[in-house]
Amino acid sequence: MRCPYCGSLDTQVKDSRPSDDHSSIRRRRVCNDCGGRFTTFERVQLRELMVVKRSGKRSPFDRDKLLRSVEIALRKRPVEPERIERMVSGIVRQLESSGEPEVPTSTIGALIMAGLRHLDGVAYVRFASVYKDFREAKDFEEILGELSHDEADPLPAARIDDGRPDDPRDNDN
Ligand SMILES: [Zn+2]
Repeated sequence: MRCPYCGSLDTQVKDSRPSDDHSSIRRRRVCNDCGGRFTTFERVQLRELMVVKRSGKRSPFDRDKLLRSVEIALRKRPVEPERIERMVSGIVRQLESSGEPEVPTSTIGALIMAGLRHLDGVAYVRFASVYKDFREAKDFEEILGELSHDEADPLPAARIDDGRPDDPRDNDN
C-alpha cells in the first residue's frame, strides 16, 4: 500500500482488527520512509452492492437474507445444504459479475426462481407463487427481509398473509 504522504511503497501494517460488525478489517499502517501513519479498510466487495426495493429504498446486499429466503422455500424438501449453498453462491456471483452497483429486488427474485427451478420443483412453485402475489399486492422485498425472521414458517405466503407467527397452515406439510 502506497504511503499517502510521501508516495513510498515501503509501508507496513502495525495493527489489524475487525470492525464491530465484522464487515470490515481496519488496518493501521506506517510508512517506513517518512513515518507517516494511515489507516485502510478491507471489506468484502459485496458490501458495495446495493439492493433497490420497489419503493426506491436502498439497502446493502445481504447474502444471509438471500440464503434464508431460499431455505424457507426449501423447507422440509430433500435437498442437501451443500446444493443450497452452491445455488446461493451462484446467484451471488451472477449479481457480482453483472458489474452493476445496484440491483433491483425483482432481479434477485428472478435469479432465485431460476435457481430453485433446477433444484426443487416444489420449492420453485412455493417461491414463484409468493413472488407473483407480491408483485400484485405487496413489495417483493419482504421475501428477502422480514418474513425470513420466522423460522417456524414453512411457506413465505403464510407469513405475508397475516404476519402472525403461529399460523395453523404450518402443519399442512
Ligand atoms: Zn511516507
